[in-house]
Amino acid sequence: MSTTDERSVFLRRESEARSYCRRFDAVFASASGSVLRDTAGREYIDFLAGCAALNYGHNDPDMAAALIAHIQGNGIAMGLDLHTDAKRAFLETFERDILRPRGLSHRVQFTGPTGTNAVEAAMKLARKVTGRHNVIAFTNGYHGVTLGALAATGSRYNRMGAPLSGVTRAPYDAYMGAHTDTADLLERMLDDPSSGVDLPAAILLETVQGEGGLNVASAGWVAHVATIAKRHGALLIVDDVQAGCGRTGSFFSFEGMGVVPDLVALSKSISGFGLPMALVLVKPEHDRWLPAEHNGTFRGNTHAFVTARVAIETYWRTPDFQAGTALRAALVTQRLEQMARIIPGSVLKGRGMMQGLDVGTGERAARICAECFAHGLIVETSGAHDQVVKILAPLNTPLDLLTQGLDILHAATLATATTDLLTAA
Ligand code: PMP
Repeated sequence: MSTTDERSVFLRRESEARSYCRRFDAVFASASGSVLRDTAGREYIDFLAGCAALNYGHNDPDMAAALIAHIQGNGIAMGLDLHTDAKRAFLETFERDILRPRGLSHRVQFTGPTGTNAVEAAMKLARKVTGRHNVIAFTNGYHGVTLGALAATGSRYNRMGAPLSGVTRAPYDAYMGAHTDTADLLERMLDDPSSGVDLPAAILLETVQGEGGLNVASAGWVAHVATIAKRHGALLIVDDVQAGCGRTGSFFSFEGMGVVPDLVALSKSISGFGLPMALVLVKPEHDRWLPAEHNGTFRGNTHAFVTARVAIETYWRTPDFQAGTALRAALVTQRLEQMARIIPGSVLKGRGMMQGLDVGTGERAARICAECFAHGLIVETSGAHDQVVKILAPLNTPLDLLTQGLDILHAATLATATTDLLTAA
């Protein structure tokens, strides 16, 4: 824990907009792998991983070495979209190891370095390509907070009552319970010329809603939505900002679902090192941008290109990494099932290495996370009521550390449930 003195400049000068730091009251100084250290030398197991921006852990040694060599060799350090050797090497690796093996012919559009900017670009391009304005987005979706993407984000808290337009909300998979197929409802509304829903430029979805509470869309639902989009002349945009880069097990979260999205937004872990970087994959026939139409000074973080290339070379050239993620995900599922038995009515959420436990209320989830932090584990919440304790550990977390972190979470869940029982008695 940090002393007030140590934190005083943050309290005095940093805007009230600050968020994650409020829950994790320490001043962090160093990190490696799945462990963060504060200025007092206290260690924390990291189940937040830069909000899924550190799928390969902190300060991966190969990425660090490549970046240091790049900087020491006076490699380019700016972000303008000039041709650079670092960007070339990234694109060649991304093409060879990610796109080609998956049969994806998409072009790569580099946007400003945030997830929200990639979503903005995708929505804008879909509108340009189709000549339509409406975008269908789903309940509990999170796509960022700049105005275009914010219109697609569900959270009232983030929407701030702003006059956001151009998006029609549709119910996500299983939103109405297991017995209502919400894709059927969407189809009905689009088939009906007087449903009040304008034909969309795009249908925008996350296959797992990271901020929305780890709601998982079934492969069948995603495939049905893809068919609906195609039949109605809309583009399918998958927002893989959080669920992509291996988080669900495969590089893209939609692999194995039989869909090829027209546009895919990627950010967070694409640089592999926590450096800001974002891109949109664009089917070649939709690449109708004019030069600089979606402009930006930082559309090519050269340092991020260096680490992004090494991330792919290190982790995606063999199936071992994916097998390791699957193993860890199975362990997380098994342990969460045990924890679910502690809190009556709690529900397992998510898939792959983005799983968690819906513990009913945000207040209880916050107490569990606070208890975890007090015992050296950083873990956050998500969901409409912040009621889901969400595990986003790095995908390569050593098994002993993963187990240790899950033990802390288990103990915190038990302690919280016990307090609740005593309070109720
Ligand atoms: N889309 C999804 C699915 C996200 O999870 C996020 C961030 N949590 C964003 C978009 C926005 O990314 P950023 O915060 O980098 O703008």
